[in-house]
Amino acid sequence: MIDTHTHLYFIEEYAPDGGGCAAVDRALAEGVEWMVLPNVSVESCAPLLDLHHARPDATGVAVGFHPEDVDKDWRAKVREVFDRFEGEKPVAVGEVGIDLYHDPTFRFQQMDAFGDQLDRARAASLPVIIHSREALEDTLTVTRNMGADCPPLLFHSFTMGPAEARRILEQHPDALFGINGVVTFKNAPLVREAVGELGIDRVVLETDAPYLAPVPLRGRRNESAFLSHINAKIAELCGISPEEADLRTTANARRFFNHPV
Ligand SMILES: [Zn+2]
Repeated sequence: MIDTHTHLYFIEEYAPDGGGCAAVDRALAEGVEWMVLPNVSVESCAPLLDLHHARPDATGVAVGFHPEDVDKDWRAKVREVFDRFEGEKPVAVGEVGIDLYHDPTFRFQQMDAFGDQLDRARAASLPVIIHSREALEDTLTVTRNMGADCPPLLFHSFTMGPAEARRILEQHPDALFGINGVVTFKNAPLVREAVGELGIDRVVLETDAPYLAPVPLRGRRNESAFLSHINAKIAELCGISPEEADLRTTANARRFFNHPV
């Protein structure tokens, strides 16, 4: 299995259990072979890169500035983040996008920062991990502006339904969908329907740790070692075995991130 989205580098969350390295090692012991660490802020660059340098084979890094951190000074911060990842061989740009859930104040700055980072991804020939919350149409407006050479897109933490999945695929037929613990939540029937309709070839696994721990661990701090609960639910929804779901989602993730076997 590949965890395509995990923040095991968050210091405070993992310190009580031996830190990020110990969390990576627990995941490896549970059959997770590789983990992608998406950056969020200027401050998160150092702990993220420290963890990657300590576990270089088990982790890949994504360079990006999270939409919730965008304010009027976004341009300098985005530049600083990308400077910090110079020479680190990121496997993607992310997580980037638009989030209007908590605070829509900087909506237009979020769109500009997203477009700027899509440009950087295109220039570097990197795929993009998208964070889009309460902002699907704005997100698709920005990606549409990229035209024909829009980078490959992964819609991380996809928790919407079949209609939204279709809407995304209509514009980006090759898009991938990152499915996390929400797919196991009682109150999320629409995302289960979406996964069944998308099928295994459009889906990749993610924990989004430390958030969104899957049932039966819901409410706990999440970590990549819990990924098999998500894989098992996706297998059930797609009518295949957990072994098959593991193989197929792993292949999808390897192709997207250009990660060799
Ligand atoms: Zn994230």
